[in-house]
Amino acid sequence: MNVSDQQAEIVKSLLKITREEELNCNELLEVIGEYAEKKLSGQPIDKTLEPVEHHLGLCRECEEEYEALCKALQDIENL
Ligand SMILES: [Zn+2]
Repeated sequence: MNVSDQQAEIVKSLLKITREEELNCNELLEVIGEYAEKKLSGQPIDKTLEPVEHHLGLCRECEEEYEALCKALQDIENL
């Protein structure tokens, strides 16, 4: 087994641990606007946006991005 095979095995084992619907930061930023609007308007978070909630609980950077976005949206509403 060469090094890249070993790395492939490690990646495979990590993927088993990681939930299938896990988002990365870029994917999260694509849907964060939709998520924030739903949250602010009190709409239920549907299945497609559940991974967003999960990611925000794990990722400080995206959480900050989300909080900034919420503030901006609230400011627009208060105009
Ligand atoms: Zn993130």
